[in-house]
This record gives sequence, C-alpha cells and structure tokens, in this order.
Amino acid sequence: MLVSAKEMLNKARDGKYAVGQFNINNLEWTKAILLTAQENNSPVILGVSEGAGKYMCGYRTVVGMVNGMLEELKITVPVALHLDHGTYEGALKAIEAGFSSVMFDGSHYPIDENIEKTKEIIRIAGEKGVSVEAEVGSIGGEEDGVMGAGEIADPNECKLIADLGVTMLAAGIGNIHGKYPANWKGLDFDALAKIKAATGNVPLVLHGGTGIPADMIQKAISLGVAKINVNTECQLAFAEATRKYIEAGKDLQGKGFDPRKLLAPGFEAIKAVVKEKMELFGSINKA
Ligand SMILES: [Zn+2]
Repeated sequence: MLVSAKEMLNKARDGKYAVGQFNINNLEWTKAILLTAQENNSPVILGVSEGAGKYMCGYRTVVGMVNGMLEELKITVPVALHLDHGTYEGALKAIEAGFSSVMFDGSHYPIDENIEKTKEIIRIAGEKGVSVEAEVGSIGGEEDGVMGAGEIADPNECKLIADLGVTMLAAGIGNIHGKYPANWKGLDFDALAKIKAATGNVPLVLHGGTGIPADMIQKAISLGVAKINVNTECQLAFAEATRKYIEAGKDLQGKGFDPRKLLAPGFEAIKAVVKEKMELFGSINKA
C-alpha cells in the first residue's frame, strides 16, 4: 500500500540520512526502482513529473500500475508516489487519482500567491493524508519544460512556507536540474544552514541530485536535507546501457529484438544507479 512521505522523511531527518526520490517514466523504470528498494530494505519515493504523467497515460494509469506492482512484487518497504513539480491543478488531479504525496511548485509566483496556493493544497491533501512538498526559490536548469533560474532561497520566505505545515520543503541552494556545468560553484551551505535555522523541523529537499559530488551530498544531509531527487542519472544510465546493447548488434542476434531482452540492460543500469544512491544517502536497511 502506498504511504505518504511524512513518516519516512521525519525518520530520515532524525536519523541523519535521506530518502531518494527516483522519477519514473514507464513500467521498467518503476519495477527497477521498487525491486531495488525492496532488495535493500530502503524506503523510496517514486517521482512523477506532469510530463511523465501524461506520457504514462495519466495519473490514474500510474496509480494503477504502481499499486499493482506493490502487490504482485510483494513490496513491503514504505513507498510514496509523489507528483514532482506539480502545478496547482496538477496537484489536485494527482491527489484525486490516488497519489500519496504531491509537490506544489509555486516558486514562480510572488511569495504571497505561493503561500495562498500552498495553503489550499495542504488543506485538501490533509483530508486524504497526502504529504505536501512546497518550493521556495526556483531550482536552476530545465526539467520537463519547467525552467528555473537557480536562485538561492530567502530563509524568511522559507519560514513563511514551512510554517503553513508543509511536510517537506524544497529550497534552492545553487542546485540545478540536469547535468551540472563545468563551472558550477557547488551547493551554498551557508544558505542551507540559514534555511534550516529558519524552518526548524521541516525535512528539506534537494532537487537535481544528479552529479552532485558525494561529499556535498553528505554535508547537505548533515545540515537537514532528508529527501534527494534523482532523475537525469537514471536516464543517462538507461540510455548508455541500451546504446551499448544495440551497438554490439545484440538486437540482431537470435531473439535479441524482444523488448524484454532489449530493455533488460537499461533496466539493470537503473537498478545499479538506484542502489548506489541509496548507499550514498544512507537509506539502506531503514525501511
Ligand atoms: Zn526538481
């Protein structure tokens, strides 16, 4: 059964580790992430962007697929199904369809409007026990058509949003979506410490987990980050493994064209990335 992200993230915050959010795109992705979580006895959050939700034929299809897998694969670790960077309308739709967690990304609105809309989502989600992530200060880079300038979040604005009762808070600290440029300055830990001091107990979320060096990840966790989003890294690993399979001509040998064979190396590559991240985040055996 899907659970909200609240309990797993509060435990992570108290235990000084982070739960990974891994974004899904299809059945193989979902199965790879769920099996890896189960094998490593780790809690996990499945992230779905609005674009990926559309691609997978809508939120109801996603909820049906994930719930079916939890049962058929006998998954017993805590799993949250989470809308990533939801719009106001998207968050309402995802809650209605059975998501156990939603992000309402109001970071592009003026702070007053972000507060009003976040408050309303918290009220509606609360009635169904659905956890809510809010965002202050846009995350840099592009994710599914959403562009962020990569601001450093204002700690006072973070406090205003955190005090609304959000389950977890994403705050820009120089992190960006996608691949990091060579001249990237790194995470702003002073900003993170100020945000943590201003927001108290709310678990913090680090977006754009792909390519952040391990020592920065660990420092971020020590400063209050309890959820880390990984998306691009699984995509790169899947693409690389699939390309190798085709370039080696394996699809031309025997029944190598069978999608269950063709997609297997990519599936295994996702599993390897997820396991590596769970080790780095410290969530193994924390289910
Ligand atoms: Zn993000």
